[in-house]
This record gives sequence, structure tokens and C-alpha cells, in this order.
Amino acid sequence: MLDLHVHLLGHLDRKVTKAAVREFLNAAVEKGISYIGFADHDLYWEHFNFSLVRQVGEEYPELQVRIGLEVDYREDREEEIAAMLQACPFDYVIGSVHQIGDWLFDYPEEEKNHHKRDADKLYKEYFAIVEKAAKSGLFDIIGHFDLIKLFGVRPQTDVRLLAAPALEAIKEAGLVVEVNTNGRYKPVQEFYPEYKLLELIKELGIPVTLGSDAHHPGAVGRDISEACLTLQSLGVKEINFFSGRKSIQLPLAF
Ligand SMILES: [Zn+2]
Ligand SMILES: [Zn+2]
Repeated sequence: MLDLHVHLLGHLDRKVTKAAVREFLNAAVEKGISYIGFADHDLYWEHFNFSLVRQVGEEYPELQVRIGLEVDYREDREEEIAAMLQACPFDYVIGSVHQIGDWLFDYPEEEKNHHKRDADKLYKEYFAIVEKAAKSGLFDIIGHFDLIKLFGVRPQTDVRLLAAPALEAIKEAGLVVEVNTNGRYKPVQEFYPEYKLLELIKELGIPVTLGSDAHHPGAVGRDISEACLTLQSLGVKEINFFSGRKSIQLPLAF
């Protein structure tokens, strides 16, 4: 099993110490995770310590440990992001959309504002930014693909139609989509992306990976086994791991 979306720093609520890294890696071992990747928010990337994480990783021969980054995508940040990615040897980069214009839409206090908006328009605006992220050439993985649903607001139009241009761009760019289990702990209470989008992703032949979006050790590997079963039921045979920004296909044997 694999978990490529783990926030060692959380929201900067801990430092990268050997003890902190061990806590996360011990949790991974306990959950039966063999492949783990730390992907902290790019806002905090300068607080990360590559050599320390790699050093502690060597204490765990049963684990493959990688270092990635979750980047907050905005069109006006493309140059800044490219420069940041140049500066560090990440194994993979997750592109995530948390913001529409100036609106940081995934904060809990924003829930009421989601309900006030036209749902179709909201989804269209969101997926248009995901499409740009996919076309930017900056990323390996698209994070929590349908995050816009987090408060349970659903579009009138079939979500597959609204998401289609973004999925086409993802396919075209050869990107990987993650199944992110953290949506279950948001008001929407389901994984990202939802099942019918996963079916479409499979149909389009887009490769997938897995992530818990853990911000503390207790959430490492959370519901990953269930996500594996979901993928298996769709006939998915492989999941993607990364090293030096190259994807590696692993059999989805579970
Ligand atoms: Zn995110
Ligand atoms: Zn995250």
C-alpha cells in the first residue's frame, strides 16, 4: 500500500525533527504502508529538511520514503512555482487548487459562501483552474481533483461534463490523479474524486495514485486500503509511485 500525500509539517504545527519523522514512519508501518511520500504545502517548503528525512528513512528498510511537495496552484504563480521546483530535488509534485481568484475556498468558515453561489458556475470556475494547472507543465500529480465539492454543494449539470475539459488536459499532459481519502472527513464525506469521476478516469486511461492528506501521524494511511478496493473494483491494475520526478508503476495487489 502507498500514501503519497502526507504533511509532515502539518500547517507548520511541528518541526522536521528525527522524532517527528519517526512518528509518521512508525504510523505508516503500523498501517501496512510500504511506500510513503511527504508532500508538504509549498508555503512551508523552506522549513523542510531533505537530508534529515532521508537519513531517518534509512532506519526503515521495509519502507520506501520519498519527498514531494503539494503546490497551491494559481495562474499568476507559475513562474514562482517553476523557480521553487528548480531549487529542490523533489521526487514528485502535486498540483492542487485551493483558491478561486482571491477566494481561499476550502477554509471551514467559507462553507456558507459555497451555498450562496451558483453551483454550476462554481464547479466550472474551479475545474477551469485545474485545467490550467494540468496544462502548466509544472506537476506530476493533480491533488484532490474535485475538492470544490467539500461542503457537499453539487452541480445541477452532470459533474462528468463539468470535469471533462480538466480530465482531457490531465490525460494530454500525462499526469496522475490521486485518490485522496481525506474528503471523507469533510462535510461531503466521500473520497476525492467521487466514484463516477473515478470511473471516467479509468475509462480515459488516466493513471492514479493514493494519498491520505494526513496532517498528523494518526491519519497516515487512513482509508487507503478501502481506496485500493475501490480502484480494484473499477479494474485498475496499477498505481503510481515516484522517484526523481519519474513515475513508477506498481501492481495494485492487495
Ligand atoms: Zn490540498
Ligand atoms: Zn494536502
